[in-house]
Amino acid sequence: MLNAAHLYDVLDQVTESVIVRDLDGRILFWNVFSEKLYGFAKDAALGQPIHELLTGRHPHSITGVERLLTERGNWEGELYRTTASGLEKKIEVRWSLDKARGTILEFGRDITSLTAQEAEMQIASHRYRNLFQAMAASFWELDFSDVRRMIGGLLASGVTDLRGYFADHPEFIDSAIAATKILDVNEKTVQLFGADSRDVLIGMSVDPFWPKASRPVYAASLLAAAARLPNYSTETQLTSLDGREVNGLFTVCWPESHQGRGSVLVGVIDISDRKAAEMELRRSEERYRTLFHAMASGLFQLDTSGVQALYGEVRTAGYTDLSAYIDAHPDFITRAMDATIVVEVNDAALRVYGAKDRSELIGQKSSRFWAKAGYGTFRRALESGFVLGPTFEEETRHLRLDGTEFDVHFTINAPDGLRQRGIVVAGIVDISERTAAKKALEQLQSDFAHATRLSMLGELATSIAHEVNQPLAAIAANGSASGRWLARPVPDLDEVRAINERIVADARRAADIIARVRTMASKAEPDRAPLKLNEAIEEAMLFLRHELQAHHVKLTLDLAPNLPEVLADRTQLQQVLVNLAMNGMQEMKRAGTASPSLTVTSWSPEPGLLAVQVEDSGPGIPEAHLGQLFESFFTTKSTGLGMGLSICRSLIEAHRGRILAENGKHGARFIFELPALVDQAAAD
Ligand code: ADP
Repeated sequence: MLNAAHLYDVLDQVTESVIVRDLDGRILFWNVFSEKLYGFAKDAALGQPIHELLTGRHPHSITGVERLLTERGNWEGELYRTTASGLEKKIEVRWSLDKARGTILEFGRDITSLTAQEAEMQIASHRYRNLFQAMAASFWELDFSDVRRMIGGLLASGVTDLRGYFADHPEFIDSAIAATKILDVNEKTVQLFGADSRDVLIGMSVDPFWPKASRPVYAASLLAAAARLPNYSTETQLTSLDGREVNGLFTVCWPESHQGRGSVLVGVIDISDRKAAEMELRRSEERYRTLFHAMASGLFQLDTSGVQALYGEVRTAGYTDLSAYIDAHPDFITRAMDATIVVEVNDAALRVYGAKDRSELIGQKSSRFWAKAGYGTFRRALESGFVLGPTFEEETRHLRLDGTEFDVHFTINAPDGLRQRGIVVAGIVDISERTAAKKALEQLQSDFAHATRLSMLGELATSIAHEVNQPLAAIAANGSASGRWLARPVPDLDEVRAINERIVADARRAADIIARVRTMASKAEPDRAPLKLNEAIEEAMLFLRHELQAHHVKLTLDLAPNLPEVLADRTQLQQVLVNLAMNGMQEMKRAGTASPSLTVTSWSPEPGLLAVQVEDSGPGIPEAHLGQLFESFFTTKSTGLGMGLSICRSLIEAHRGRILAENGKHGARFIFELPALVDQAAAD
C-alpha cells in the first residue's frame, strides 16, 4: 500500500511547488520544489501559517478566496508572494480542499517571467514554428549577434561608409559569414541544401552555403539591416552541402521580436526550375539565332505590324474576304508591300540578293524585292495572313538588288502569336538554277520526243508514201480522164468540171497528209489549245490506216459522245496515241497473233476527267515488266530504244494526267487520263 511517506517522496520529484496546509493555513507538507521557489527550507516552512510566511498582494481578499474554496472545494488563480529573499513573485496556484481530512492541497507555478506580451509571443511563436516548418520555402533562423558586434566595432572605429568599407574589405564579409550561425532551419532547408538532418545544420556557420560570387548579396543584406529596412530580397545563388547550385529568391528580415535576440530570419525560395527554364529559353533563342544565320536558305525577319494595321482597315471597311477587297482596291498589294519591313536577314539572304552587307537589306520595304510576276504570290500570301494561315509557300519571281529577276521558292512562317505582334519569318531559296536545270531537262525531253517522232515516221514511211500515192494516182488518172473528155468533138464540160473537183479534193487530201507528217516531223514548241479528244484520236488513226491494213489489224473505235474538251497539244497527244497503237501492232506481229485487233476507247470515268484506252489482242505484258515499261531505255526489242513509253508518260504528265499499263482480256492495255478543260480552268 502506498503510505503518506511514499506519497511525499513522489511529490518531492514534482517540478512544481506542492504545499499541504490545514484549514487554519498551517503548513503540513512542503516539497523540494517549494524550497527552490520560495527560498524557505522545509523545516522553516512546516507549521507556519502560509499567508503570513509568504506575504503578498492578492487580487482578491484572501478571506474571500478561502470562502470560495470552502464553498466549491477548489480554486485557481494568480497571487503575488514574497520569497525569503524579499522578491515578489507572481504565482499561479491551484487549491483543492479535502474536507474529510481537513487539508488543502496547493500546486504553485512561477509565472513572474511571463509577461502578458510574452505569453502572447509564446503562442505566436508556436504558430510561427508550425508555419516555419510547413512552408515550401526554406527558412533559416540565424544568430547574428557576433556580426552585430563586428559592425558595432567598425562604427566605433570611425568607419562611416559601410558600403565602401564592405567593397574594399571582402574579407570582412567573409568573416561575418563565418560568424553567422544557424539557430534553426525547417525541413525544406534540410532537403534543399542536402543536409542529412536538421541537427547537422543547427550550430553550423552559414559559410559553406555562400559561394564567393554571392557574397555581395550578404554585404547588401548587412547594409539593408544597417539602414533599418524591414527586409531585403534578391535573387542569388547559394550552394548546397553536396555542392549543387541552388538558385534562390533570398529574403532576409529582422522581425521586431527577434531584434533583441540578435537573430534574423532568412527565407529561400528555390527558383532553380524557373532559372533552368529561363536558361533553356535563352539557349533556344541562341540556337534560333545561330540557325537563322547558318541556314543555307535566305531568311528574312519581317516587321509586318504595318500590314496588321492595313488588315484592320479592311475589317473596319466591313470586309471579311480580303480577296474581294483587293479586287476593289488593287493598290492594297503595293501598300502592303511597302508596309512590310525587313528587320533581320541572314548571310544566305545577302548572297541571294547580291547585297554586300546587312545594311543594304535591313530597313528595306519588301516592295524592293518583288518582281511584277511575283505580285500574285504576294497577294496570296496576304490573303493567307488575313485568315491567320500559319504558313504559306509558293514558287515565284523576285528581284535582286541590281534589279535582275530570278526564281525563288518563297515560304512564310508565322505562328499566330508572332503574326499578331507583326513578326513574320520569310524563307527564300534561289531556285533559278533548279529552274534552269528543269528547262534543260524539258528541252532534252522534247529533243528526244522529236527523235522518236522521226523514227516513228520512218517506220511509217511506207504507209505515208502509200497514203500520199493514192490521191496522187487518182489525180493522175482523173487528169487523163478529163483530157479525154476535153478531146471529144464536143467537150463535155460538165464531166470535166466534176473530174476537176475530184482532182482538187485528192490534191487537198495529199496536201493534208503531207501537212500532218510535217507537223509530226517538225520541232514546234508545244502549243496547247482546247481540243476535242475524239477528233484527235480519229485523226491519229489516219496515220495508221495503211499500217493497219497491211497487217490485217482490225481497228475498233469506241468513242463516247459529248465528251468535254481537253486543253492539250494536238501533236503531242497524237504522238502518244500513235506510239501506243504502233507498240500494240508490233507486239502482235512479233507474237504472230492470229486475228490481231486494236480497240481505242474514250470515256469520262468521273466528272472532270477523260480517259483513253488502247487495247491490243497480242501477247500482253509479262508481270515482271509491268513496273518498268515506262522507264527510259527499257525495251525488249533488238532494235528498240526504250524511249517510246517514257516519252508518252512525260507528255501525259505534262498535261497533268497519268498513264498506266495493265493486261487486258487478250493482250496489253494502256490507259491514260487527262483533266477535262472545265476543271483545269478551275484549278489554274
Ligand atoms: P521500245 O518500243 O523502243 O521498246 P517502248 O518504251 O515503247 O520502247 O516500249 C518498251 C517495252 O514495253 C517494249 O520493248 C515492250 O517490251 C513493252 N511493250 C510496249 N507496248 C507493249 C504492248 N502493247 N504489249 C506488250 N508489251 C509492250
